[in-house]
Amino acid sequence: MNSRSREELREESSDIRFDVAIIGAGINGASLYHELCGRGYRVLLLDKGDFACGTSQASAMMVWGGLLYLRNFDIKAVVEFSLSRDRMIERLDGRVRKQSFRYIPDSKGRNRWMTLSAFYLYWILSSLRREQPSLQRSFPESNLINLAEHNLGGILFEEGMLNSSDCRFVLDWITKHSSEGQVALNHTSVEDGAFSKQDKCWRLDLRDQLTGEESHARAACVVNCAGVWADRVNGQFGIESPYKHAFSKGVFAGIKKATGHEVPLIFELGELDDTYLCLPWGPVSLLGPTETAVDTPEEGFAPEKEDVEYLLHHANRRLSTPVESSDITMLRTGIRPLVVERDYEADVYPLDLSRRFQLVADEAKPWFSTYGGKITGCALF
Ligand SMILES: Cc1cc2nc3c(=O)[nH]c(=O)nc-3n(C[C@H](O)[C@H](O)[C@H](O)COP(=O)(O)OP(=O)(O)OC[C@H]3O[C@@H](n4cnc5c(N)ncnc54)[C@H](O)[C@@H]3O)c2cc1C
Repeated sequence: MNSRSREELREESSDIRFDVAIIGAGINGASLYHELCGRGYRVLLLDKGDFACGTSQASAMMVWGGLLYLRNFDIKAVVEFSLSRDRMIERLDGRVRKQSFRYIPDSKGRNRWMTLSAFYLYWILSSLRREQPSLQRSFPESNLINLAEHNLGGILFEEGMLNSSDCRFVLDWITKHSSEGQVALNHTSVEDGAFSKQDKCWRLDLRDQLTGEESHARAACVVNCAGVWADRVNGQFGIESPYKHAFSKGVFAGIKKATGHEVPLIFELGELDDTYLCLPWGPVSLLGPTETAVDTPEEGFAPEKEDVEYLLHHANRRLSTPVESSDITMLRTGIRPLVVERDYEADVYPLDLSRRFQLVADEAKPWFSTYGGKITGCALF
């Protein structure tokens, strides 16, 4: 844990000329901070809110091997993400674990043998490093499922999962580093700045969101890891990019975990090719998520009545025990940053947009922008 006080860290952020300043302490920014600190760089990590206060507090915490990419037969992506997932399971012992999932086909959905074949292909593309998938007619969670909708059994397969939570995952990257020249400041927004050709250095104008005080920091290079705010930050600094973000809001509802619910369930919806998860997480089961296109980050971080109605509708269709709004003990809401071309305007269901990660280097200045991505991709840094 960093033993310097916040005041000392703030002073250090103004005194030192950093090698790299990272804007945004979500999963992307925090894992990059860890990587660069480990290589001995002087790094400044800044977040306008608390660490992991953006999308990285709202995920399903799954470390996927790229299953979604099979829909488009993007074999290269599946191979890369599987490798990345398996490295995380192997190397981040205690923070990422192996996790069995049960895919529950819809009674009127895709042919389940075709689905099982797809899981076999997925397993083969990960070089058989995970457990072999298997179709099971009955299993311990069968009594939790509404058999009128899902009476074809379940396909057991293995992925990775964060231990504890996504916020804890982010904090663990940050708190590993406490040497001089490694400064992580929360509640500090990057408001403006400019690049000096003469000094070969960025000046960042900072505001402490707790006290309102202004300060400056200097860094040879900046990496924009501001997630759904990345386009806005690029705009503040006059950085142009061939990409931008499309935003997809995702909400989970938490209810008291049912007795015997140990393995996460993934229900096939048969609509829009989507799924509905029922994830055991400590004392609760997370139900969801929603997938709704929104125009701005501000629109997305608050759950709406329609989100809750959608989540309850599917809970009551997929689960054997009725769920009412009074059963909901928590709501987790985030916005997925999805990378699209700069001139992209189409109105598609967000699930059809890629969840890939894109790193873009500015042609004229030492500035990098990150787009999209997922937990698995953070290991690619
Ligand atoms: C419902 C849902 C479920 C998901 N499930 C999964 C999953 O199971 N597996 C998976 O791999 N991915 C999942 N994702 C996606 C994953 O959560 C995101 O891709 C990831 O959290 C994005 O991290 P990030 O670091 O890019 O962005 P963020 O976590 O949003 O971090 C960006 C940070 O930048 C800060 N910031 C912005 N502007 C400024 C500024 N001017 N100055 C300083 N700081 C600034 C923000 O405060 C924020 O903390 C899910 C997403 C959602 C919404």
